[in-house]
Amino acid sequence: MADHNFDVVILGGGSGGYAAALRSAQLGKSVALIEKDKLGGTCLHRGCIPTKALLHSAEVADVVKESAAYGIESAFGSINMPVVNKYRDGIIDRLYKGLSGLVASKAITLVQGEGRMVGPKTIQVNGDNYTGANLVLASGSYSRSLPGLEIGGRVLTSEHALQLDFVPGKVIVLGGGVIGVEFASIWKSFGAEVTIIEGLNHLVPNEDESISKGLERAFRKRGIDFKLGVRFSGVEQHANGVIVSLENGEKLEAEIMLVAVGRGPNTAGLGYEENGVAMDRGYVLTNERLQTSVPGVFAAGDIVPGLQLAHRGFQQGIFIAEEIAGLNPVAIDETGIPKVTYCEPEVASVGLSEAKAAEQYGAENISTYEYNLGGNGKSQILGTAGFIKLVRRNNGPVIGVHMIGSRVGEQIGEAQLIVNWEAYPEDVATLVHAHPTMNEAIGEAHLALAGKPLHAHA
Ligand SMILES: Cc1cc2nc3c(=O)[nH]c(=O)nc-3n(C[C@H](O)[C@H](O)[C@H](O)COP(=O)(O)OP(=O)(O)OC[C@H]3O[C@@H](n4cnc5c(N)ncnc54)[C@H](O)[C@@H]3O)c2cc1C
Repeated sequence: MADHNFDVVILGGGSGGYAAALRSAQLGKSVALIEKDKLGGTCLHRGCIPTKALLHSAEVADVVKESAAYGIESAFGSINMPVVNKYRDGIIDRLYKGLSGLVASKAITLVQGEGRMVGPKTIQVNGDNYTGANLVLASGSYSRSLPGLEIGGRVLTSEHALQLDFVPGKVIVLGGGVIGVEFASIWKSFGAEVTIIEGLNHLVPNEDESISKGLERAFRKRGIDFKLGVRFSGVEQHANGVIVSLENGEKLEAEIMLVAVGRGPNTAGLGYEENGVAMDRGYVLTNERLQTSVPGVFAAGDIVPGLQLAHRGFQQGIFIAEEIAGLNPVAIDETGIPKVTYCEPEVASVGLSEAKAAEQYGAENISTYEYNLGGNGKSQILGTAGFIKLVRRNNGPVIGVHMIGSRVGEQIGEAQLIVNWEAYPEDVATLVHAHPTMNEAIGEAHLALAGKPLHAHA
């Protein structure tokens, strides 16, 4: 057993942990980064990157199937899943090598092994103690299930779904949140029959209601079936498939069922609570400076209540490193964090929904505007439908941007600058947006909200 001392000891090498490590090293700190699996965590190996690679293959399949409408005669053959997976794994491998090289090039000691908190500033790994002047907890999350719903066989989580080397004929997706609708979209494009079951009244229920309804219209048009406001009651597995029962008595058959009901914090048995870290239902509680109840112990990423997104984890990791270094960084505003759902069509948003804005400021003190992509040349060229919805405070800044349409995720950059820099529609209306781009639709929406619509009827 050996004792090692560092300025910063980090438990977990995912988005939150490795960002904290890289920024701490830049700031001249000695860093130990403890990881039991692969550097990069969920996002790189089992989350953001693999799913987006599959979504790109799905887009290619759709392009081939629809090519005749654009005057290109082609014949759609089949989906070769092993090749799709090889393409996906190639991307992960390259990014993993890049990240490993980056970490190796800095003053970061990568400790391979399972860590556990054994003192207020100490993590034990393989019998050795790693003590930091500061500790960062970033142990990530796992796919949750429902009480009594066992994962296994034909009942899968997203981790298992990513390993499939075939396209299922018929799938039930339990959960209409981000992960559920992304897999539904992939499988539909690959040729599966898909039914989503969502207990709440809308798909992507965390989005502005008009966007949820827009996605429901688009999915209906794509032939993706969904049942809303209905609860799952059980699943039986047999040799060739599953029978899923709903609380309304309905029974649905499929080849497999994906359980996409959210992610829980990976904190059980890691010694956090025993060492005085205040927790709530498995999540690590922090103040806005990401400081836990134990002085000098910080937490980042999915274990901290809030949006479970990789870019939030990166930003929290950077914030913590700067806080430790005494740079007094600006606290992260959670409502300013952009969200993208990468199904087809994509959904992207930042800031407050209309309902939240009305709650916060009073319905009479806000205005909204929806710009239909029907008036946007590039959207017409690409054959996508959708809209951009703005929410502003009357005589005040834009406080929410909500978008639906193919590729709108790429527009979130400008939207988040507008919301986070508290721009007025009148400010954005003076900025020139290149023609013909989808981005132009953001400019047009602001022109309209500023009272001078161009290619819009109101
Ligand atoms: C299917 C799917 C798709 C997603 N798509 C997106 C997306 O498009 N965009 C987006 O922003 N987010 C997406 N996410 C969410 C994103 O992956 C997470 O928000 C992000 O990975 C959280 O980072 P983290 O550092 O908190 O945890 P993780 O990335 O989970 O990293 C935690 C790390 O800690 C390690 N660890 C845990 N316990 C120990 C221990 N005791 N000892 C040593 N190591 C340990 C783990 O091995 C892991 O590597 C997706 C997630 C999933 C599942």
